[in-house]
Amino acid sequence: MTSSSPLTLADLAALDVDKLKGVGEKKSKGLAKSGINSLLDLITHYPRRYIDRTKQARIGELVEGEEASVLVRVVRSSSRRIRGGRVMVNVVVADDSGQLELTFFNQGWRERQLGANTEAVVFGKVGTFRGKLQMANPVVDLVGNKTGKIIAVYPQSEKAGLSSWDYVEFLAETLRRTLPPSGRGLIDPLPEALLDQFDFVDRGAAFNGIHQPESLAEVSVARRRLVFEELFRMQLALVMRKRALEATEVGMEHVVDGPLMQRFRQQLPFALTSAQERTIAEIAADLARPIPMHRLLQGDVGSGKTLVAVASLLAAVEGRHQGALMAPTEVLAEQHHAGIRRLLAGLTVPAPESLLGDRPLKVELLTNRTTAPERRRILSEMLLGQTDLVVGTHALIQDKVEFSSLGVVVIDEQHRFGVEQRAALRDKSGQALPDVLVMTATPIPRTAAMTVYGDLDVSVLDEMPPGRTPIRTRWVEAPGSLDGEPPLDLELMWEEVRTEVGNGRQVYVVCPLIDESEKLEVASAETIFERLQAVELKDLSVGLLHGRMAAADKDETMEAFRRGELDVLVATTVIEVGVDVPNATVMVILDADRFGIAQLHQLRGRVGRAEHASVCWLVGEGKTPDGEARLKAIVGSTDGFELAEIDLDLRGEGTILGERQKGQNDLKLASLRRDRDVVAAARQAAIELIDQDPGLVKHHELAAELELFLAPDEAEFLLKG
Ligand code: ADP
Ligand code: MG
Repeated sequence: MTSSSPLTLADLAALDVDKLKGVGEKKSKGLAKSGINSLLDLITHYPRRYIDRTKQARIGELVEGEEASVLVRVVRSSSRRIRGGRVMVNVVVADDSGQLELTFFNQGWRERQLGANTEAVVFGKVGTFRGKLQMANPVVDLVGNKTGKIIAVYPQSEKAGLSSWDYVEFLAETLRRTLPPSGRGLIDPLPEALLDQFDFVDRGAAFNGIHQPESLAEVSVARRRLVFEELFRMQLALVMRKRALEATEVGMEHVVDGPLMQRFRQQLPFALTSAQERTIAEIAADLARPIPMHRLLQGDVGSGKTLVAVASLLAAVEGRHQGALMAPTEVLAEQHHAGIRRLLAGLTVPAPESLLGDRPLKVELLTNRTTAPERRRILSEMLLGQTDLVVGTHALIQDKVEFSSLGVVVIDEQHRFGVEQRAALRDKSGQALPDVLVMTATPIPRTAAMTVYGDLDVSVLDEMPPGRTPIRTRWVEAPGSLDGEPPLDLELMWEEVRTEVGNGRQVYVVCPLIDESEKLEVASAETIFERLQAVELKDLSVGLLHGRMAAADKDETMEAFRRGELDVLVATTVIEVGVDVPNATVMVILDADRFGIAQLHQLRGRVGRAEHASVCWLVGEGKTPDGEARLKAIVGSTDGFELAEIDLDLRGEGTILGERQKGQNDLKLASLRRDRDVVAAARQAAIELIDQDPGLVKHHELAAELELFLAPDEAEFLLKG
């Protein structure tokens, strides 16, 4: 690099922020406290919002009772002590149309901040006091006496001693030193073709446009480019990681359409949905390749994922390998085991170990509840290859479990499994790596999946098997507590519950979620159980299921419910995932406003599993706007993918990114919510670029930037390997 060549982001990262004119010792400490050490940190510290000077209301036009944002100049400010030793600051401000009084309580520093002649934009609700216009505790943004029409407002931290205005000045200086005519300019690492395709401005213009725009239109053009850049870097890393694994791992080539598979299809009691056909074909294509599959199967509750899993496992068996299915709980493992045996009943496989020709296809169950002798038998048969499929819980990945040849692994309800556990299971295979299918019943939005699971391939089961009666969802706006006189429609609800039981159906009652303590939650469930038994559901057979019961008692209760010996199961959320009792048609959720959208949807999915019409009752007040929005969403839709989008809107992306993204999230500007379209475009662009140039050798500037943003070991793996 010569001293006149344009700057890279790495160059900016190497320049300490305290070298900047105007950043003294104090401010530099404040910046460090806010995580800003280099010019790169500073230039990617983006404005929170913008003020358009020309769009501000004028004091003369303010209307009492409405919110408004006004550009004002301070006339005078003063403070005094009021009752309780609190400080009240009074600030009189004006524009050329009138005067306004601002009052601040317990913000003594406002007197200093808002000295005479300071220019500021204030935002708040307009009131009056003694006939004068007033705002109490408005939001204040200092705008200084700069000219520009658009003013950038930065996230500021009073504690760090930095105002938005400090940032405006530091950024002006950074841009002046960086961009022409006084600076060397910035290298643009995006391929020309991408700039053309998306009509992006170059990097210098983008940073200038986001920090010092002349118009809001310029901001949006700049933002579009910078958002793409962040998402593109992230997708490049994910796609490269995926390709790197594919290049280094050796997998098995499975037979995907042999006689076993054909017999299995022939004996199915129903036709596959077209979504099942499509996903099975996607999986089959993976299985037939010598590269290990890493695929995520997203499907709503009841969309028929088990069948897709079984079809995948059969491919292993067809080639004389073995398959394993791992479930998050013993109840679910047992349920899967029973279901899979039913689906595979009567199928046989060639038996080289005997001279008797074929033997029945063998499916075993291995959990912590398997007795020791049974366990020994299963383990030895697995090692000898006499067992074809094994269903289990975490017990499956314990050290002593060995397969003769593990071909395909299916992991159900992935969110309860860690990455390490997955790795451990894959290490079970002695030679080539098994193919892995991860299934999840908690759909997340497509674009979020591209980010969170960007190193996996994703298949989506977006169609329900035919013949289901849709579940009616009803919201009873009443307190979930059963104290005192129940409101009328709560009465009505229990009445309907009794009627359904009279018709031979079964009912779940889910007790309030108490995050703080399982003990409290159980206590509350016990109280509700007793109350219902004594009053609302007297004469019915009611059982209780909660997380603090011994495993054996839990099973006994669950089994009794499954056999129909219990009419009603009062439970905490232990029943959330996967439990399948087709005769249950009523789901009552108490204090439903406390649950998240995904959880409510999962709970509702426990009913509507057969031809009987089902109903889900949500009992709860919309105490908070979010609580109300969640309940409305659940009432309004039974589509898990649609609900996932709403959930993303309500909660933001933090919760979705969660664990997998910890420490590797360089999204400062992009939002998975606002920028959904860009995620997909960035992924596509990343795939195309890596196809052309797998190691980014022809795009060394991009490669260098990835290195800057990735963890060192990740960079090493992706770029040096
Ligand atoms: P999930 O995706 O929630 O795991 P399951 O695999 O448990 O769903 O399937 C739900 C129910 O739908 C099961 O009773 C299953 O037998 C049934 N099912 C699956 N596929 C079909 C189909 N193509 N046609 C009819 N019923 C189906
Ligand atoms: Mg399932």
